Amino acid sequence: MDFIRYAEASASLVNTALADRDDLATHLAGRAWLQPQCTDRDVASLRRFQRELRPVFEASGVHDAGVVITALNALMEKYPITPMISDHDDNLHMHVATRSASVSELLIGEALLGLATLVCDLGPTRLGVCAEAKCENVYVDTSPNQSRRYCSDRCSSRANVAAYRARQRGTDSQAQSAV
Ligand SMILES: [Zn+2]
Ligand SMILES: [Zn+2]
Repeated sequence: MDFIRYAEASASLVNTALADRDDLATHLAGRAWLQPQCTDRDVASLRRFQRELRPVFEASGVHDAGVVITALNALMEKYPITPMISDHDDNLHMHVATRSASVSELLIGEALLGLATLVCDLGPTRLGVCAEAKCENVYVDTSPNQSRRYCSDRCSSRANVAAYRARQRGTDSQAQSAV
């Protein structure tokens, strides 16, 4: 199992607006077998978990390693993970919950183990909140030189355009004051 992929999925979980089961089913696109199992309780649990997980991304974004580690440990204590060996698809790999786990237990377990693995492998400062002025999405930075600042290419280009316009305005007012 690719735990880094689960860390990335945890960012998209935090970024997903979960109003109802349909939203959760949309979030689970690509894992169709989980969609019929989604309940209102899963939606409620995941919304609570989103609020609990966001501070981990915020602390990591300002390089507060102590808070990242303490908060993740506290969440893993609150939401115990059950590692299980699975052999579906003919390859042995780890799952984070038993077959009887609910969708929210599964997603929370994957998020926490993914983030804990990321922190141990790449360090505690690899998460962040998008630097685009109007965006509150979180992201996981797996770039080799730890250079990510935006949640998406869309936000990155939007911020570039805004910076360009700000420079233009600066140049214009300089030109005017020179007249
Ligand atoms: Zn599997
Ligand atoms: Zn963004």
